[in-house]
Amino acid sequence: ISSSPAFSGPRILALANQKGGVGKTTTAINLGTALAAIGEKVLIVDLDPQGNASTGLGVDRRSREKSTYDVLVGDITLADAIQETSIPRLSIAPSTMDLSGVELEIASARDRAFRLRNAIDSVASQYSYVLIDCPPSLNLLTINAMSAANAILVPLQCEFFALEGLSQLIKTVEQVKATLNPGLTIHGIVLTMYDARNNLSAQVVDDVRQFMGDKVYQTIIPRNVRVSEAPSYGKPVLLYDLKCVGSQAYLRLASEIIQREKVLRAA
Ligand code: ADP
Ligand code: MG
Repeated sequence: ISSSPAFSGPRILALANQKGGVGKTTTAINLGTALAAIGEKVLIVDLDPQGNASTGLGVDRRSREKSTYDVLVGDITLADAIQETSIPRLSIAPSTMDLSGVELEIASARDRAFRLRNAIDSVASQYSYVLIDCPPSLNLLTINAMSAANAILVPLQCEFFALEGLSQLIKTVEQVKATLNPGLTIHGIVLTMYDARNNLSAQVVDDVRQFMGDKVYQTIIPRNVRVSEAPSYGKPVLLYDLKCVGSQAYLRLASEIIQREKVLRAA
């Protein structure tokens, strides 16, 4: 997958991996917060019916009358669904369980794969980054995210089966690129839940770097209990414990991504 051509406008990144529990949502929340802390204007689009990104950012279920479900079925605009969070410069379009039924509802619509792209178009000028938190499957929701995105960010957990499934994901990205979204690229792979006490983690890092080369970000997110505690307080880890290793890693990831963007934009 080649690197993207020069571009302008916001960067729309889809956090995708059809495996569950690899750190998509955690990365959406904390990368989003870190980018906002650095001064970027960030929108997180919660595209997982589980709604964990919404919960983790303190948007409780009662205040989700307007959600990404309503946007995708065409009842409201994305602007109507967007809420500010307690973090300056960070907004979210929350999701609800309704989203799990949306696939059937829009299946026969001609623009079914472009609903999200069209919705984001109307608000894009207000943000410098849009992060889409995908569900753990390669379904129509993820396809909507991939056709809306400029690039895919793949969280990969440092565990034995990390690479399993990656080629299927890359194949899907190539198919979307060939049919729905010619400009799509893989922005990078972020290794998550790295455990320094476990030799396996180091082995996985080596293997993934061997396989994916410089698509793998230098920054590795360590396994850190503060990261997993934060969502139950409805807070990103950067707000819960700024000094912990997890927060510091997400700040480094944000600057690495901004750095890559500068190189791409200069190209
Ligand atoms: P996904 O969105 O891919 O399903 P999540 O981001 O929800 O994955 O993460 C799965 C679980 O792992 C969650 O309970 C989360 O709190 C935990 N987790 C994610 N990243 C870390 C980390 N760096 N350290 C410790 N726990 C983590
Ligand atoms: Mg998730």
